[in-house]
Amino acid sequence: MEKPKNQKPGKLNDVVAADILTAVENGFARQTSFTQQLVRHPSVRGQEQTAQKFIYESLGERGYSLDRWAIDVNEIKEHPGFSPVNVSYENAINVVATHHPREEVGRSLILNGHVDVVPTGPADMWMRPPFDPWIDGDWMYGRGSGDMKAGLAANIFALDALKSLGYQPAATTYIQSVTEEECTGNGALSCLVRGYKADAAIIPEPEDDKLVRANVGVIWCRVHLRGRPVHTRVAGSGFSAIDGAFYLMSALRELAEQWNSEKYKHPYFEDVDHPINVVFGQIRGGDWASMVPAWCWFDVRIAIYPGVNPHDAAKEIEECLAQASRNNPTLANNPPEVEYTGFFAEGYVLEEGSDAEKTLARAHMHSYGADLEAFVTPGYLDGRVFVLYDDCPCLVYGPYSENIHGIDERVSLSSVKRITGAIALFIADWCGLESVD
Ligand code: ZN
Repeated sequence: MEKPKNQKPGKLNDVVAADILTAVENGFARQTSFTQQLVRHPSVRGQEQTAQKFIYESLGERGYSLDRWAIDVNEIKEHPGFSPVNVSYENAINVVATHHPREEVGRSLILNGHVDVVPTGPADMWMRPPFDPWIDGDWMYGRGSGDMKAGLAANIFALDALKSLGYQPAATTYIQSVTEEECTGNGALSCLVRGYKADAAIIPEPEDDKLVRANVGVIWCRVHLRGRPVHTRVAGSGFSAIDGAFYLMSALRELAEQWNSEKYKHPYFEDVDHPINVVFGQIRGGDWASMVPAWCWFDVRIAIYPGVNPHDAAKEIEECLAQASRNNPTLANNPPEVEYTGFFAEGYVLEEGSDAEKTLARAHMHSYGADLEAFVTPGYLDGRVFVLYDDCPCLVYGPYSENIHGIDERVSLSSVKRITGAIALFIADWCGLESVD
C-alpha cells in the first residue's frame, strides 16, 4: 500500500501508526545513548548550563528554531504562579525549540521536560558513580535517568521517529527543556510568561506508564530560631535552638496530620494514602559541642491540596509556629522567623474527558495494548503551570522508574520505548502530519 503523504488530525491511519512504532524501535539505540549523554551532565541546581548547551545544540542540529534565556525574576514575580527565590538566576537557563509546519492544520503542542536534577546524596551509597549512567538489563541507572532525562529524550526522539518516516507535525510544536522544576517551577512559568502556549502539553515525568489526574501543590520554607547560649555546666539556664527546632517540627507534623485528616474534602485525594507529607530536608545549627546552641534553621517541605491558595496555607503554617512558640518561654520572647525559599505552588486537577486525554488514551492503547490508567500523585509537577494559568490540558505521562530522589535511581528502558511510541502517536494524531520538505 502506498504510504499517505499527510495525516489529518484525529484520523491516524493504522498502517502509519504501526510504522511509527517501528521507527521508534529503530531509533531506540540512539535514543538510549543520547539519554546517557544527558545524564552525564550533573545538572543540579545552578549547574544546568552544560546539559542545556547539549540540548540546545542537539535541537539545533535537527533544524528547529531555537530560543534560550536565563529566567528573569522581574518578568515573573507578579505572576500568581511565581515561587520566591533566594539564589541568582544568572545560570538558570531555559531552552525552547520550535517546529513550524508549512500549513497549520492540526492542534499545537508543547513537549515539556525539566533538565534539573536533585542532589545525589552520599555517592558511596550508590552502586556506581551517579553521573556515570550504566545499563543493566532493562534498567538505566543514574541521577536524573528517570526524573526526567529519559522523558526529555523521549520528546525529542518521538519527533525524530516521525521525521525518519518523512513526516513532521502539521501544527506548531514546541520542545521545552526547562530548569527549576525541582525547587520552584519558575522555569515552566517563565516559558508561559514569554508567550509559549499551545492547545495541549505533554510532560513525560516518571509516572509508571500512567497519566497524572491530580497532584498536590508544595510550599518550601526555612524556619530560623535563636536560642540562649550558655556553658554546658549550666545548660538548664539556657535554651538550645536545636531543641527548639525539634519542638517546632513536631508542631508542624501535627499540622500536616490535621491536613491529612481533611483529605475526604478534596476530590481525587480521598483514597490517597497520606497525601500531605511534611519533610524537614535540611537542618543546621550550633557552633560548638560544649555550648548550648545559639541558632538553628531547618527547611520545611509541605504539600497542599489543589484549590488551596499557598498564601492561605503559609498563614496556617505561621500560625502553627506562633502558637507552639507561645507555649515555650524562650521562643515566646524570641519567636522563630519564616523565610520562603522555593516552591509556593498550588496543586492541580486535570479535568476528565478532554480531547487531549482521549487522544493519549488511543496512543497508549496502540503502544501498550492496554487501557490508559490515571492516578493521583502527592508530589509537585510543572503541569500546574499549564493547567492553572493557561487552561491548557497538560498530560503528565511517562515511564516506569524506581528510586527517583533516592539512591540508585533507575528507569525501565522498555517502558521508555513504549512511552516514546505513545508520544509519537499522540503527535501524529493531535497535530496531524505533513511530509518533510
Ligand atoms: Zn521530575
